[in-house]
Amino acid sequence: MATKGKTMNILITGGAGYIGSVVTEECVAAGHNTFVIDNLVSGHKWMVHPNSEFYEADIRNTPVVNQILQKNRIEAVIHMAAFSVVGDSMSGPYGYYDNNVSGGLLLLDAMRESGVKKIIFSSTAAVYGEPEEQPIEESVELRPTNAYGETKLAFEKALKWFDYAHGIKYTILRYFNAAGASQRCGELHKPETHLIPLVLEVARGRIPVLQIYGNDYPTKDGTCIRDYVHVRDLARAHILGLESLEKGSDVYNLGSGRGFTVREVIDAARKVTDRLIPVIYSDRRDGDPPILVASPAKIIQKLGWTPDYSDLTSMIESAWKWGNDHHHLAKASGEPRW
Ligand code: UDP
Repeated sequence: MATKGKTMNILITGGAGYIGSVVTEECVAAGHNTFVIDNLVSGHKWMVHPNSEFYEADIRNTPVVNQILQKNRIEAVIHMAAFSVVGDSMSGPYGYYDNNVSGGLLLLDAMRESGVKKIIFSSTAAVYGEPEEQPIEESVELRPTNAYGETKLAFEKALKWFDYAHGIKYTILRYFNAAGASQRCGELHKPETHLIPLVLEVARGRIPVLQIYGNDYPTKDGTCIRDYVHVRDLARAHILGLESLEKGSDVYNLGSGRGFTVREVIDAARKVTDRLIPVIYSDRRDGDPPILVASPAKIIQKLGWTPDYSDLTSMIESAWKWGNDHHHLAKASGEPRW
């Protein structure tokens, strides 16, 4: 179903990944022409939308990026290619700076060179660090407490100056915790580090026990609170973000406004799957803020975004169904890391 916006040629970086593949689906459904660049370090070729042209390349490969932008007359870039595992960013910050900051800058400069004036950037709640006031509004001070958040913030800042100097308009979307699946695409990393897919792997019996990282946080049950947002709702916001670029650059939180503890997520998964999900408590994970809950007021008011699938149960149900239907595809794909 096409939306009110005009058809655009859109380059989606990271379009073979979990969120990128669902964003591509939304762009195709909105009537846009989509082009995907992904180096397949964590993405899956089989998740790239069949209507998209796919380039297996790294965003740091500037000649290839220039060629893609120019040959396809790209009008907007949705930039999602990045490393996004907090723990890895703490043990190996160089890779995070190289990919998320240097890679992003090379892409941005290629856009400048090719005259591409629109970008949607997938940022993160990790730019906030550990603000005391929850839910978090966009205007609070940005004080990341992990290297991942720091790299995303560095690119957010670069966007501001590329707009100032070169008129590249941006929408920054600060994702809270993406969850759930579309019919075709879902969350699958190797190694997996994210809570919901791991909980479901324990439910399937592929992992014996779920480690809960810390039960001494200042929350109602001692485990961390996160704001989970359905990946399809999250993807839809990118279309709204694109349409809003006519009015100029801006930044929005993308979360549901409700927080759940790790234990609440596990309880919901036990109900959805009707399986025992054994847990053990272990130490806190380096860089994990205790509570991250969005205020989505701005994106609701300014872009008219509303989450259609905001309850935790439907997110977990869709992830469970997708995992049951599709898990074998990764193995069958011949991707080297599987
Ligand atoms: N978590 C956990 N055990 C796991 C994976 C995650 O207790 O095996 C916790 C993690 O400490 C965090 C929450 O679940 O508080 C969400 O983690 P995830 O990695 O899914 O997303 P993040 O919030 O780090 O982006």
